[in-house]
Amino acid sequence: MKRRSADIITSLEAKGIDAVMITSAVNRRYYSGFTGSNGVVVLSRKGRVLFTDFRYTIQAKEQCAPYGCEVREVARAIGRSDVEALLREFGAKRVAFEDEAMTVAEFEAYRDMPFELVPASAEINGGRLVKNAYEISEMQRAQAIADAAFSDLLKVVKVGMTEKQVRNELDYYLRRHGADENSFDTIVGSGPNGALCHAYPGERKLSSGDLVVVDFGARVNGYCSDMTRTFAMGEPCEELRRIYDIVLRAQLHCLDVLKPNMRAADLDKAARDIITEAGYGENFGHSLGHGFGLEIHERPYASTRSEDILVPGSTITVEPGIYIEGLGGVRIEDCCVLTEDGYINLCTTPKQLIIL
Ligand code: ZN
Ligand code: ZN
Repeated sequence: MKRRSADIITSLEAKGIDAVMITSAVNRRYYSGFTGSNGVVVLSRKGRVLFTDFRYTIQAKEQCAPYGCEVREVARAIGRSDVEALLREFGAKRVAFEDEAMTVAEFEAYRDMPFELVPASAEINGGRLVKNAYEISEMQRAQAIADAAFSDLLKVVKVGMTEKQVRNELDYYLRRHGADENSFDTIVGSGPNGALCHAYPGERKLSSGDLVVVDFGARVNGYCSDMTRTFAMGEPCEELRRIYDIVLRAQLHCLDVLKPNMRAADLDKAARDIITEAGYGENFGHSLGHGFGLEIHERPYASTRSEDILVPGSTITVEPGIYIEGLGGVRIEDCCVLTEDGYINLCTTPKQLIIL
């Protein structure tokens, strides 16, 4: 765990930066282990410190110990003076900060400290790109929980249930199987609502002939899983059947071509070409996939214009979809981790169309 902060200190030192100030919850957690809502982490060759308030001191000491991070209790509104005094103690001159995560108010509070502030979100987030064995095993555990929960869900889903009821059952099974929480709010889109990529579950009742898109994830020790399956309530109409087959073909083709060190944009293209050739290019309006980890969406991104490379240890979802207004939608998503010589697909739930 200490390696995380050692690596970022070293890589920023190479750019003439002597200290890093971390203010976002996700990177606070990644670099210090602290999961509370209030804190600032300062890392430098001279020391590693988390500022937090009385409510979190006991928890923070436990969480930060494996990260070699010292905890200093300060007033609830962590002041610029606390951070400034420490940076002076460290003799810092150039200080990296999270330009993409700070509010304007936070930035205003820090901007006239007597140090040069260097925007460094890319480098600070970049530390999280390559996952280690512990992180991969946590995400594997999260996805195993999601697979088990989905299998339980299929045993209870019936025509007449509302989307909200489907969501409630699934969320309950996720917790029962050991999820700490959801990776994100569960998406359930039935019938025409399936055409809304991020359908918020509503009062619509599942009816015969519907396709139902369910996109969900479990979170374990902060790490996310992400899977989508689309199933049918009774026999779907011909067009829904057809788009299911196209999406499945595109998804399986991506899994065939996925390999370490490929361009993420090429993975997107692999699916897009199939869907476009089948005449539904306009109905696949989102990108193919995204990395996941402590956040549900993080680098790399598999989109048409992405410049990201799928390096070993990075994660990527493979989630093509086709959405037709007024009729419905299909999305099929697996979440994968790149390895030195291939990849691991964390999802084990089958993908042939399930007709309930
Ligand atoms: Zn998803
Ligand atoms: Zn996703």
